[in-house]
Parts: sequence; structure tokens; C-alpha cells
Amino acid sequence: MSRIKQAAHFASFGGACRTAVDMPSRKWGKLTAVQKGGLGSWYFRCDCGNEVLKEGHYVRNRARLFDAGKALTAPSCGCAR
Ligand SMILES: [Zn+2]
Repeated sequence: MSRIKQAAHFASFGGACRTAVDMPSRKWGKLTAVQKGGLGSWYFRCDCGNEVLKEGHYVRNRARLFDAGKALTAPSCGCAR
């Protein structure tokens, strides 16, 4: 049983991706990583209440593009299209 790392909060936004797999407790667009779901995949809880399994790097990239104004929608379960 490992605890969710709260420390991940601080380095998250605008910072470099120092630890690629350190996703819990962060928010990516509408998605919050809640649990590792498999090889490179995570369960995310969306703002709308849905839980989805997505690839971590996909969600991170998407969030970064959105922050940079290069994507129209923030990462979500699909409800933000
Ligand atoms: Zn949603």
C-alpha cells in the first residue's frame, strides 16, 4: 500500500516533467489521476464524475498543449468535446 504523493502538487504546473510516472494527486485538465491502471495507464476521475482509464502520457501531453493554447479542449473523459 503506497500513499498518494501529495508532494507532486508543487512541481506539477509549468515545471519540467521530472518523474514521468508521478501522476497521482495532480489534475490534468478535468482529469485527476486516482490510481494506476496498468502499463502506463491511469484511472482518472473527471470533473463530471466519470472515471476513465487513459494513458498517462496522452493526458499529460494534452494538458500541456491546452495550457499552451494549442489544444481546444482540456483533457477530460470525453465530456469536454
Ligand atoms: Zn467528464
